[in-house]
Amino acid sequence: MFSIRIRALVFTAFFAVLSASGQTVKSFSFLHSNDLHAHLMPDDDGLGGFAYLKTVLNEQRRGCTTCLYLNAGDFVQGTPVSTLFKGDPVYQIANHMGIDVSTIGNHEFDYGWKAVQGFDKTAKFPMVSANIVNDRGELLAPQAYVIRTVAGVRIAVIGAIMGDLVGNLATEEAVGPWHVIPVVDAVKKVVAEVKGKADMIVVLGHIQIAEADAILHQVPEVNIVVAGHDHKGFPEPHVFEHRWAVEGKSYGVELNRLDFDFDTVRHEVVSATWKHFPVDSRKITPDPEIQAEVNSWEAKVSKIVDMPIGEAKRRLQGPDLRLLIERAMAEATGADIGYINTGNVRGFLPQGQLLARHVWNVLPFDNYIMVGTFKGSELPAKITNEFKVEPDKLYKVATTDFTVANQAAPSQLGTTGMKFPVKGPLQRDAMIEWVRNRKVIE
Ligand SMILES: [Zn+2]
Repeated sequence: MFSIRIRALVFTAFFAVLSASGQTVKSFSFLHSNDLHAHLMPDDDGLGGFAYLKTVLNEQRRGCTTCLYLNAGDFVQGTPVSTLFKGDPVYQIANHMGIDVSTIGNHEFDYGWKAVQGFDKTAKFPMVSANIVNDRGELLAPQAYVIRTVAGVRIAVIGAIMGDLVGNLATEEAVGPWHVIPVVDAVKKVVAEVKGKADMIVVLGHIQIAEADAILHQVPEVNIVVAGHDHKGFPEPHVFEHRWAVEGKSYGVELNRLDFDFDTVRHEVVSATWKHFPVDSRKITPDPEIQAEVNSWEAKVSKIVDMPIGEAKRRLQGPDLRLLIERAMAEATGADIGYINTGNVRGFLPQGQLLARHVWNVLPFDNYIMVGTFKGSELPAKITNEFKVEPDKLYKVATTDFTVANQAAPSQLGTTGMKFPVKGPLQRDAMIEWVRNRKVIE
């Protein structure tokens, strides 16, 4: 079905070029990634890794004079180097990736808002974000947008973050004096400002899928949305009239490329094709400069994380892995119920020997376990859907401090006022201990 759509659009482009007297239609390419989450090295399937991604980028950029590389946020948080050094090494390494523009994601706030401004300083590429502001209306980011002139066409790239950022941060201090303007409102405001200065308008957003769609439908001046945050990536581009939105898979397992023809008179995308290039470390030579940097950072954490802790008889991921982590949290704290949201689990445990690193990759957050006691009747549906409880019995429930702080969010507990007064160990430490004690996970 997708190939039919591509063909139809290419056909349209053919007529546009023919009917134009001068060269009004020009070709461009956006290489793009999102949610790299500090996955500096390939995963246990051999996919991803910054040095390998760079090789794929180099191949795609070779001979391309109209390519821009855009990165849609959440560079940090996901591996030990990021957790132990609070994200900055990831930006240092990213400085060698040839990024044209990047934006701020929600996980950039995991080490506090001051660290976000630190990343903006470390980055030698422009960081854009139009909608994180304080009460005086000042931006957290160095700028809302940048304009890049490519083949004589002025391309404005506007940054944006999801409107519900603040409700999804670990602590009050993570956000400090900042709040978020709804995405569409913020984009409209910047569009009014850049309209006369740009020929093409692009939103680089770490946003919800519905927000990407809302931009396509409500802000006709925006030609293309390059999005991040939903780790699955779009199965195919979202297209509305002549506007396109794309979003790639997380962790750098693919490099994405949107090739498009742009009518510079009508300010419209006339055709586009979207491709994905696997970053497969078993088939690619890593970029030596980036690999050396990655190795030097990994060497700093290796002593802490590369120790064997047990063995898995099978690959553990998704709901299975979530249940194991919940059990480990309950056992570590003597609770009856362990509960975490699906977003807490960030990867998989491979079959075979398990290193502490594998648990770090699954649980990169410095989350503590918190314990509270509740009657069965007081537990929210999020918990009772998973665990059978009797209304009058008391239950000790273990969850993370993140879930406690954001308990009202539908993704967490969907309720308010639950008190978890007892602080347990770091969730990650509890899981590592649990694997050590088991030795073998069936
Ligand atoms: Zn995100």
